[in-house]
Amino acid sequence: MRIARFAGEDDPQFGVIGNDNGVETIAHLKGDPLYAGIELTGQKTPVADVRLLAPVIPRSKVVGIGKNYAKHAAEMGGEVPTEPLIFLKPNTSVIGPNEPIFYPAQSSNVHFEGELAVVIGRICKDVSVEDAPRVIFGYTIGNDVTARDLQASDGQWARAKGFDTFCPIGPWIETDLDPSDVRITTVLGEETKQDENSSDMIFSVPEIIAYVTSFMTLLPGDVILTGTPSGVGPMEIGDSVSVTIEGLGTLTNQVVSLDA
Ligand code: MG
Repeated sequence: MRIARFAGEDDPQFGVIGNDNGVETIAHLKGDPLYAGIELTGQKTPVADVRLLAPVIPRSKVVGIGKNYAKHAAEMGGEVPTEPLIFLKPNTSVIGPNEPIFYPAQSSNVHFEGELAVVIGRICKDVSVEDAPRVIFGYTIGNDVTARDLQASDGQWARAKGFDTFCPIGPWIETDLDPSDVRITTVLGEETKQDENSSDMIFSVPEIIAYVTSFMTLLPGDVILTGTPSGVGPMEIGDSVSVTIEGLGTLTNQVVSLDA
């Protein structure tokens, strides 16, 4: 099931993506499915007639995993970590599909990082690898936008990864996906920059959840970015960046000047 969040008449609404005779539709839900479950209102709208928003605004945090693909660790000039490397992005960095990534004045080297994103479904702590699937609500696509120059100069990554608009996610949450073997590609303009499979992850999704919850509580709606494949690189103002994940869809955003 694909669950999307969209701009309703007054407030954001949730819906289930479907197909009516070749027309992609969204069946409206009564509330937030993370808290209210799946209850349809009976109303349906063509997806083309709504503006999709970030499918979830994390209640507390976006957890990022660094260097979780060997080829990416190598291109960053580092070793593969012996345990997951964790950082946080603020929930204020989250934007939805087709929303602009603002290029900050403080940086001159802003990179895309296409990633598989996990959406947590319930409050959890000390989750075992075996139990990890039970705390997952679903999966979406993420772009862990990073000011590479500030990442190096700051040492800490809070600023480099924490600017407003630096965490596009979407276009929806897929509740049925095997995350262990999906192709992840990132296209900048017309050029494919990243093309790897989630099977190349050093730490699997269940291993990541077990590690993260060994020291921090995860809340419903929290998002984990599972690390980027190799091929990261700079984006320029005016660029369009699309991350595609097999079984999930495509997340597209445009890089925009703050002065525009
Ligand atoms: Mg990343």
